[in-house]
Amino acid sequence: MKYYSTNGKAPMASLEKAVVKGLAEDRGLYMPEEIYKLPKAFFDNIASMSFQDIAYNVASNFFGDDVDLDALQDIVFDTLQFDCPVVEVEKNIYSLELFHGPTLAFKDVGARFMARLLQYFINSSGKSGDTVNVLVATSGDTGSAVANGFLGVDGIHVYVLYPKGKVSPIQECQFTTLGKNITAVEVDGVFDDCQRLVKSAFMDDELNVKMRLTSANSINVARFLPQAFYYFNAYARIKSLTPHLLTLAPEIVMCVPSGNFGNICSALFGHQMGLPISRFIAANNANDVFFNYLKTGIYEPKASVQTLANAMDVGDPSNFARIINLYSQNGALSPEETHAAITSLISGATYSDEQIAQTMRQCYKDTGYVLDPHGACGYRALKEQLREGEIGVFCETAHPAKFKEKVDAILGADVAIPDRLAAFMRGEKQSVALSCEFADFKSFLLSR
Ligand SMILES: *Cc1c(COP(=O)(O)O)cnc(C)c1O
Repeated sequence: MKYYSTNGKAPMASLEKAVVKGLAEDRGLYMPEEIYKLPKAFFDNIASMSFQDIAYNVASNFFGDDVDLDALQDIVFDTLQFDCPVVEVEKNIYSLELFHGPTLAFKDVGARFMARLLQYFINSSGKSGDTVNVLVATSGDTGSAVANGFLGVDGIHVYVLYPKGKVSPIQECQFTTLGKNITAVEVDGVFDDCQRLVKSAFMDDELNVKMRLTSANSINVARFLPQAFYYFNAYARIKSLTPHLLTLAPEIVMCVPSGNFGNICSALFGHQMGLPISRFIAANNANDVFFNYLKTGIYEPKASVQTLANAMDVGDPSNFARIINLYSQNGALSPEETHAAITSLISGATYSDEQIAQTMRQCYKDTGYVLDPHGACGYRALKEQLREGEIGVFCETAHPAKFKEKVDAILGADVAIPDRLAAFMRGEKQSVALSCEFADFKSFLLSR
């Protein structure tokens, strides 16, 4: 399979190149040249298959031409060492719980898959002598998923750059206590400084001659496509839980709390592969750029505003380009036709912090289910928009304990901290303190 750039001005890339480079030369996002439909027999049998087997089928549909199938199966099985279960919250509304991985958020799936695929390419390139250095800037959540996803993976060293004093203690301990092949770099600056240091490193000729550098950005195809796995699993589990329901409503409604739109984008790819989803809801917090696009057909990025659901505080979603590319059929349709295609499949929602908090309280009181602020946007949008006779699933994208202070205060409860999160909090913080000058970061890297 070849990958093309959404900007259309870069050469086609192999999977290996798309994974190692992340972004195309023309700054576009890579898209697979084809999305194959999965056979009917797969959907007929899906309810009796395990999550891992379902995921392997989906993975071979995307990556089967480029990765040895036995190796791909190992990568998938090793990635999915935890479940993504579906839980009934109330009649016809199900939560797809994506927080059972090591860092308690859905980004674990993509990060773990990417780490293992990158390791596969390093081993098969015959250049396994040199360590590949993954540089990642984080404002909190991405760093922990990437660091844990790559933890202990041979041949790869990860540098997580984060702004000093600007990530929460729970977030910080999830990437500073790991040791092994993970180095946390505490930058005396803000998130934008961290991102600038990483970008400058990728553009620095001397560094690139002396070290193999790569990024694990969320726009990487190896991080975003594997997220499709759990949407197929959700359908399978609903089919096995409630076969009678699916005979009445054979397709489900999927509601995804969205920030950079990588998660919902992978569900849209699943839909293209034949997954029976009748329609999508993109739930936003107060950052309503996509919501406005659905309403007006005009995409107007703006500065993000801070909200309770902070992993969705995005004012210019990076995967918007992929959605446009997909529904314009790579530019074949006009902007109006593209907008019509998108609005016929996806609706939106936007909620203030007050509405998010009120939703968390209402759901807890009525059902006993504890939502995190991100999942709360999804639950509310689904509840408001689900029609008679439909079955809906929303993504619970993070464990509520990740936002314990906020959730406890909103619910007047004491959310239990899962053991794996408590274990991070007992670990010893190790980080390298650096200024926000590129010269310092460069000499630090060269001294390694
Ligand atoms: C990253 C994240 C999101 C947003 O996902 P996108 O793929 O960026 O749309 C939502 N919830 C949580 C908890 C996240 O960490």
